[in-house]
Amino acid sequence: MQDKINVTVWNEFVHEKKDEAVRKIYPNGIHTAIADFLGKDGRFSVRTATLDQEENGLPESILEKTDVLVWWGHMAHEKLADEVALRVKRRVLEGMGLIVLHSAHFSKPFKLLMGTNCSLKWREADEKARLWVIEPGHPIAAGLGEYFELPGEEMYGERFDIPQPDTTVFITWFEGGNVFRSGCCWDRGNGRVFYFQPGHETYPTYYEPNVRKVITNAVAWAAPRVNIKDDCPNAKVPLEPIQKRDLSAYRAIANKG
Ligand code: ZN
Repeated sequence: MQDKINVTVWNEFVHEKKDEAVRKIYPNGIHTAIADFLGKDGRFSVRTATLDQEENGLPESILEKTDVLVWWGHMAHEKLADEVALRVKRRVLEGMGLIVLHSAHFSKPFKLLMGTNCSLKWREADEKARLWVIEPGHPIAAGLGEYFELPGEEMYGERFDIPQPDTTVFITWFEGGNVFRSGCCWDRGNGRVFYFQPGHETYPTYYEPNVRKVITNAVAWAAPRVNIKDDCPNAKVPLEPIQKRDLSAYRAIANKG
């Protein structure tokens, strides 16, 4: 039997402690709600981590054992230690998967991996969202219909300042007229990154069956295929003999204008 995919669900875990409305929806935190449904999938072994833990819950020992990291953050992005953000980036380049949810578009690890501002339009107006599946053959869209709807969600709209995704799996239409690339995949080094837009903290988004299906599919898709530490070796010994060449005529072209 194949080893289970080790999943770490990370959450800043701030809104749920400060805001009664958010706590009502996620009494044990967004991370626990996500870990609960992922944990029911026999393919995954799931743990959680939060900002207030030592090394923001992501010491080297935990990240080493993490195959896929799921990330939710909003108001405390800046409180994450730069060192931890760089550690997450390095692990993705080695092969770890990263699932970036909702307002984590502004998280340090995502911005480091994208290299762009990751800005977008937003509006809180309880509007309907229709998520169109535009790559029905993609593993992340498995089991979904042509589209699915959320009765109320925060609007995120274009332009989303991201590098062109390798694959865009979802585009969302919002009731107020905006559209958004709401499910985007990138390869970064040996790892895979998936951004998924739904999940504003005042809605029960992470209890919604289609949202759960997408995140579950994404975790399986992002599981590492390799785990390669960075190395930049001098390959002094060639595989085949290299012919001796007289480069004097070539070198003589230097400084001749
Ligand atoms: Zn939000």
